Formats: sequence, C-alpha cells, structure tokens
Amino acid sequence: MNKIVNNVVILGGGTAGWMTAAALSKVLSNVKVTLVESEQIGTIGVGEATIPTMQFFNGLLDLDSHTFLKHTRGTYKLGIQFENWAAQEHSYFHAFGSTGRSLWAAGFHDFWRKGLELGISDNFSAYNIEAVAAGANRFAQSKNGLNYAFHLDSSLYAKLLRSVAEKQGVTRIEGKVAKVNCDAGTGFISSLLLESGEHVAGDLFVDCSGFKGLLINETLKVPFNDYGQWLKCDRAWAVQTKTSNTPVPYTRSIAHESGWQWRIPLQHRMGNGIVYSSQYMDDDTARERLLSTVEGELITEPRLIGFKTGHREQLWHKNCVAIGLSGGFIEPLESTAIHLIQQGILRLIKLFPSQGIEQLDIDEFNKSGMSDYQQIRDFIVLHYCQTQRDDSDFWRYCKQMEIPESLQERMSLFRKTGRFIVRHEEIFVDSWLQVMIGQGLIPEKYHRIADEMQAHELKAFLDNIVSSHHRQVSALPEHQQYLTRYCQ
Ligand SMILES: Cc1cc2nc3c(=O)[nH]c(=O)nc-3n(C[C@H](O)[C@H](O)[C@H](O)COP(=O)(O)OP(=O)(O)OC[C@H]3O[C@@H](n4cnc5c(N)ncnc54)[C@H](O)[C@@H]3O)c2cc1C
Repeated sequence: MNKIVNNVVILGGGTAGWMTAAALSKVLSNVKVTLVESEQIGTIGVGEATIPTMQFFNGLLDLDSHTFLKHTRGTYKLGIQFENWAAQEHSYFHAFGSTGRSLWAAGFHDFWRKGLELGISDNFSAYNIEAVAAGANRFAQSKNGLNYAFHLDSSLYAKLLRSVAEKQGVTRIEGKVAKVNCDAGTGFISSLLLESGEHVAGDLFVDCSGFKGLLINETLKVPFNDYGQWLKCDRAWAVQTKTSNTPVPYTRSIAHESGWQWRIPLQHRMGNGIVYSSQYMDDDTARERLLSTVEGELITEPRLIGFKTGHREQLWHKNCVAIGLSGGFIEPLESTAIHLIQQGILRLIKLFPSQGIEQLDIDEFNKSGMSDYQQIRDFIVLHYCQTQRDDSDFWRYCKQMEIPESLQERMSLFRKTGRFIVRHEEIFVDSWLQVMIGQGLIPEKYHRIADEMQAHELKAFLDNIVSSHHRQVSALPEHQQYLTRYCQ
C-alpha cells in the first residue's frame, strides 16, 4: 500500500483522460504519466457546454479564454434558457453570476419578493446582468465584468489537451486493453495488458474509460449508486447541424413531454440533442422529434447514447481513481460533467499519494466526491419536481415522486420562509434562487428587513438596478462581433 507513486497510468483518451493527463503533467513534473486509448473504441464525443469553473482549469494550463475558444471554435455562455419547464410556453433564464444587490442581512430575493407583493417587481432575471446581456446577445470579457463559461467542440478540445499534455511529457499508447492484471495479495491493479501483447505497468491507475468503467467497475467491482428513481432520463440522441444564424451566448434547454432538448451554439455549427426517459418515449419517436425540430442541414448522422444516472460508491478504490463517466454521470441539464471531471482532478492533485496510498486520503477523496454528486443531483431534480406540468405520464411522475430529503428540506425552507442557506462548498449558490423562482417556487414570506424600505424607496432601488444593467449592456459589443475580433 505505501509504495511511492512515481508512475501514473490513465486509461482513456476522452475529455476526462486528456484533462487528467494535461493537469497531472503540468503540476507533477516528476511523476511519469502514460495514457492508453483506443481509436477503435473512440470517445463519447458529446459534452460541449460548461459552467464558469472551467476558467480555473484553463488557468491551470495557462490557456486564456480567447486562445481556448480559437482552438475549440467555441462561444461564450452566460447561462441557460429554460423553455417549457415550469409550464408549457413559459421560459426563464438561469444565468451565471448573482442577481440584484445584497442589502443588509437579507438577500436580494427578499426585497424582490416584497416588490412582487406591491406589484413593482420585474422578472427575477431582469436584475441579473448576465441574463440581460444574454437576452441582448451581447458580450465582452473584462475584469470584474460578466461571469461566463464556454460552449466548445469536444473533439477539438481533446486535440488541444492532447497537444498540451504531450508537450509536457505525457506518453500516449494507442491500443485496446484486453486484460487487467491485479496483485493476488492486495487486489491492486498492477498492469494493463493490451491486445498487442504490450504490458503497461503503473503505481496508480486513473480510470477514464467511459461509462463501462473498465477498471473501477469491471475489474474492481465497485457498486453503483443509482439515481434513476429521481432522474428518469436515460437516453439521448445527438446530432450536429450547420447554422447560418449568429451564435447566442447561452444554451437552450427546451422541455418536451418526456424529457428535454439541448441547443449548443458553436462558431461553426450547432450541437443538438434530445434527452428522454426510455420508460416514457421510444427511440424512434425521440429521433423523429429531434430531427423535426432542429434548424439547418445535418452535418452528422444522429447518434444514440444510453446512460445511467448516479455514481460509483467509491470514486477511489485501492490504487484506482475513477474520473469522468467511469465514476458517474448526472444528465447534462446543467452542464456539470466536465466540472465533475475537473473537481476529481484537482482533488487528486491535492491528495496525490506521493508517499504512498493512504486510506485516509482515499476516504477524503470519496467523501468530497460524493458530496459533489449529491449537490448536483438535488439541483437537477429541482428542475423536474417543481413544475406545473402535468400533460404527460412523465411529468405527472416527476411532480409526485418522493424527492431526496436534502432537497425537500431546502425547498420547504425557501417556500415557507424565503430563507436560502448556503452550505459548505456549494457548487451552485445564486443558481438555486434563480431556478427555484424560475420554476415557480415563490416564497410565502420575505425577511422583515425588507420592510425597512418604503414602497417608493424599494421601487427606486429595483428600477435603478434594471436601468443600470441596461445601460451597461448596451455599451457591450454583440457576441458575434466579440468572437470575430478575438476568438476566430
Ligand atoms: C448525452 C450527453 C450529453 C452531454 N453533455 C455534456 C455537456 O453539455 N457538458 C458536460 O460537461 N458534459 C456533458 N456530457 C458528459 C461528457 O460527454 C463526458 O463527461 C466527457 O465527454 C468525458 O467522457 P469520458 O472521457 O469519461 O469518456 P469517453 O469519452 O467515453 O472516453 C473513454 C475513453 O476510454 C477509452 N477506452 C475504453 N475502453 C478501452 C479499452 N478497453 N482499451 C483502451 N481504451 C479504452 C476510449 O477509447 C476513450 O478514449 C454529456 C454526456 C452525455 C451522455
């Protein structure tokens, strides 16, 4: 167990594998990193929307946003427009960045809620500058400016990461793993035997082999914690189309009777997909629905992807760390998978077993990893259970299902009291308020501090935020203009 780790082997060359290789080789220059991948198997080839934390990962690799978007032909993302979620023909915006201005001890939403009662509040997102900029299709990057993430072409991203990683000394081996060898005493993985007959030995193995989890699942048999009772979607079709429209700086998520569709605008094309529950919609109907609603000529054939929602009960077991789809997956509604990959990598770097593998490190890694999954699970379930939709069996199930206790507590507290408590190391903070309110969860009460402001003062305060956002946004260039200038 306490063998010094000098030799890391990564199995898999998808987004997870190359992100891990690029990051480890950047910060642990005295550790040998080898990546094994099989072109014959290929990668999943989706995963094109992100959240703002990706900027930190790019920073770790010394990639500035302009260079990153040039290489991945990506665009900026200020948030997600949710259409037909709370009810049909209803839409709201989940933007990055906070809404309104904090005042005294209460949250902005308390003042907004009081304004609602007085009939002087606008939509919650009118007080969020990222949402206003997205609606106006405008964008610019500046210090202390808009909060943003990216849309990217995943195959170009993998290429970019590979070139970064190889320059930093990562060895890539092309080949298919035929057998995984384990030590008979400890059960630790000792080497990968490739179909070519080559043995790839290592001290620590990172499983980035995708959904099947060749090491963590098929070899080490770590059980799966299934979230299927709360998140019914388990299949997707993905297709790319040509686009003649200028790209908007946000993702569209359009609910349908058994799931939802995504539209992710890139510089050169549109990424489209339909996500659905196979219990409520068959594959042919879903394919048909996707093809009848996409805009522009198809560039690829539609591809069917099945998935299971949940995560391994341990993400690090013995000398194997699972990063990416091998560790778990929560449907892509809030674009969190690349973020989870990044979290796994940063955690591995922090707890890197230079002096040998310690159970305490493993426990810490697993505890924090589980907490990430649970937080994201609750946030995604919120979109389904808080709805007025009851037009299909799927939505009726979602409305009535028993939800996780942690989510129930958070929603009840907000509904009854208007209080929103930020817990330890939350990934989403203001996002919770935007989605709860966007989905129609309006608190029954507001904090008494809001009563310290007279109605006319409150109106001036609220109107001032809206007009200031409009003023600032109208001074920004159009998103396309900005991309043409800096990112092409
Ligand atoms: C429908 C859908 C939409 C998504 N959208 C988003 C999104 O918008 N945003 C987001 O952040 N994420 C999204 N994701 C998730 C995202 O696609 C993945 O997290 C990301 O691509 C990482 O995948 P991976 O590298 O873990 O696996 P993969 O891409 O599947 O890579 C697996 C690698 O393992 C290799 N391999 C497997 N077996 C062997 C073997 N026996 N021998 C050798 N090599 C082997 C393969 O060759 C490949 O290189 C989405 C996922 C799905 C299913």
